[in-house]
Parts: sequence; structure tokens; C-alpha cells
Amino acid sequence: MTTHVFHRALKSALPCVAGGDGITLRDAEGRTYIDACGGAAVSCLGHGHPAVLEAMAAQARQAAYIHTSFFTSQAAEKLAARVAENCGGDLNHVYFVDSGSEATETALKMARQYWLERGQPQRAKVISRHFSYHGNTLGALSVSGNRWRREPYAPLLADASFIEPCFFYRHAEPGETPEAYGERAAAALEKQILELGPETVMAFIAETVVGATTGAVTPAPGYLKRVREICDRYGVLLILDEVMCGTGRTGTFLAAHAEGVAADIVTLAKGLGGGYQAIAAVVCSDKVYEGFYNGSGVFQHGLTYSAHPVACAASLAVQEVIVRDNLLANVRARGEDLTRALHGRFGNNHNVGDIRGRGLIQAIELVRDRGGKTPFDPALKLSQRIKAEAFARGLMVYPGAGCADGRAGDHILLAPPYIVTPADIEEIVSRLGEAVDAALVAVN
Ligand code: PMP
Repeated sequence: MTTHVFHRALKSALPCVAGGDGITLRDAEGRTYIDACGGAAVSCLGHGHPAVLEAMAAQARQAAYIHTSFFTSQAAEKLAARVAENCGGDLNHVYFVDSGSEATETALKMARQYWLERGQPQRAKVISRHFSYHGNTLGALSVSGNRWRREPYAPLLADASFIEPCFFYRHAEPGETPEAYGERAAAALEKQILELGPETVMAFIAETVVGATTGAVTPAPGYLKRVREICDRYGVLLILDEVMCGTGRTGTFLAAHAEGVAADIVTLAKGLGGGYQAIAAVVCSDKVYEGFYNGSGVFQHGLTYSAHPVACAASLAVQEVIVRDNLLANVRARGEDLTRALHGRFGNNHNVGDIRGRGLIQAIELVRDRGGKTPFDPALKLSQRIKAEAFARGLMVYPGAGCADGRAGDHILLAPPYIVTPADIEEIVSRLGEAVDAALVAVN
């Protein structure tokens, strides 16, 4: 057998990338693709940004690698200060890792050790939500309510408990207001804490805006505020996973800023480095940090590439460009254009049940009939078909599978870089429209 990369899908031949410029990628055959999903909601400045490339080269020349048991770096310190300032409140302490999954692992360990430091070793249970995704490593997968990703590895996963998500389109009762639904969804957390015994629960983890599993699902109004109150009532730490929706993707640095809620621990990843380097962060509040500082003074954790200086330099440059070019204003304005364009193109399509999201993380959900919200049979792999039709038209979109029990439908997630123009948005929606039409012909 020839040697080759062990890809995710062993039998599909992938084009080889040959170049990237702005929001466009080019393959070795000369075909171009508009990156309407930032790869996996990662790319925020697009490709080839000179300021980022220069910052990476300068850092690599100075010191390409240090181990955090010996040194810190200016890049890491400056980046931590900027991230903390952007997070606001007392989210002042930033632990750098390399991926979203590692950020989840780190956040869970941080929460657990916090309770040990506070003399409450019985607090070891984590509550998460169904239809959530927090990463693919075993610890992160243990708290991920994504069935198809979990099921093959179930025997290896740690125990966690799951409550219903806050997903208005699928779970609200007929006639229920978003506010009343948000109250009801949050009440499920209190019920679960009481069932488990509040003194045994260490943390509740949730994506502020759900990304990969159900596609750009924003919380109902008031939901997260109620969640915060419930966590406070029982002393449970609130971990918000902003790996996908954080660092500006929804138009505010944290998606939680728009909800008026501050977590105890926040995870960031994709937009932090914008794909220029693999970097993620776990940001914690003064309260959590002081638990360690006034306790053992050591976090029993550590990864070889934590706070990698080239990754920190790249990320710092990305974050500086976002501020310098006022890109969050562009995220908000283009997000409105995108919502309008999606409604314009799919508003009358009876197979598009929901158009949702905020800023530059938006999705369409596909259904057999709008009234009944019946999902397509997952065996039809509709979202994969749309992805393939879009790719053939030079458009990259992020597909999400539906669920056989009907609790989620196929969806297509859009998460273009923050630099998109109004003309880009028109082109993205136009190509997506053609791709959806073509895929629906095959399944209807
Ligand atoms: N949390 C969320 C919310 C994510 O969307 C993802 C990635 N899709 C992860 C965690 C895991 O991140 P990574 O793939 O970088 O490990």
C-alpha cells in the first residue's frame, strides 16, 4: 500500500489546496472556492493576511518554541491581556491550549480542581445538554450530547448528565412565547441539580450559541440569565463554550455579552487564531483563579504546546486587526445582510423550516414540511448532498445531520470570515440556493 494521510473519510479523494486569498481558496487544478463556513467557523480574516504572516515570522525568528515551565513570552502576555479585556468583567485569567477539545478538557479539570481547592471533593458531576458539542477527545466527548459522535465510543466515556437544550424552533410548545420557553428550558437545569444533589455538582457546560450539532441555535431571551441565577443558587460553576461562537463571530466579542451574562469559565478557540495557528483559551474569573491562588497555587495540568509563542503571536495579530479594522461592526452589518438574503432566497421554500443565527453564524434547517417540521430521513444525508452540490459550485458550507427521532433536522451552517462584503454575501446565498435546489430534487 502507498503511504498517505489517514483522512477523516478514507474513501473520498480530496482536492489539494494550492492557495488562499481573502475568503477564497484555490485547489491544485485551479478551481476556486468561496469559504462560506471559515473551514469550520475558524477563518475570520480570511487567508494570507500580511500583518498576521509577518507577526508569525517575527516570533518564529525570535523564539519558535518555549516550554511554559521555563518561560513566558511577550506574545502570550499581550494576548492574555487583550483577551481578558475583551471578555470584560472579572474574566481576567487566560490559560492557552491548542484546540477547542483541549479547552473543554482544561475547563473541566479547572472546575474540578477548583472544588478540591475549596474543600468540596464531592463536587464531581457535570451537567451538559443534549444536542451539544464540546469536542472529540474522550473527556470533551463525555460532556457532548451529540449522539452520532458519542455512540461508537460510549464504553470509553465518563459519566455526565444531560438536560434538554434551549432550542425554540424544535422544543417550544405551540403558542409558547420565547421568554416563557426560555424559563421552562432553564428550569430543567434546576430540576437536574436537585435530582443529582446540589452539593455533588461541579459545573454546567453549554454553548452560548449552539454550533456544530443543531446549527446556529441562539438562546431564548432570558434563558442564560436564569441559568446563571440557578448556578449561583446552588454554587455550580457556569462554563460557557464559546469555541465556535466567541471572539466576535456573533458581532460581540463573547456571544454571552449580548445575553448580559458572565460565566465563571469561558472557552475560546476557532476565531482566536483565525486558523493561522492552532490556539485556544480557557478564561476564568477572579473567583476561580483565587481558588487556586489561595489554595495549592498549582493547576495540575499542562500541555507541551500551551501558550505556543508563534500561535500567540498569530492570534494577537488577528485580534489586533479585528479591532483596527472595526470588523465586529462588519460582522453585525453583514450578518443582517445574510439574514435578509437567506429569507429572500429561502423564505418561500417549504423545505426550509427555519433560518436562524446571529452575526456571521447562521443556518438554514431543512424539513419535509414546514408545518409539521418533519425532518428528512437522516439516511438520505441531505446536508451532505447540499455540501457536495455547493462544493461543486465553488462554495464551502458546513453540513449538520438530522436525528432519526425527529428532534433535529438536517441543517447547513454558514460562518464566513468577518471580512465578507455585501457582494460576497449575495454570491454565497445565490450559490447555496442552487445547491439546495439541486439536492432537494434528489430527495423529494
Ligand atoms: N466546542 C465547540 C462549541 C465546537 O464547535 C468545537 C469544534 N467544532 C469544539 C468544542 C472542539 O474544538 P476542536 O475541534 O478545535 O477540538
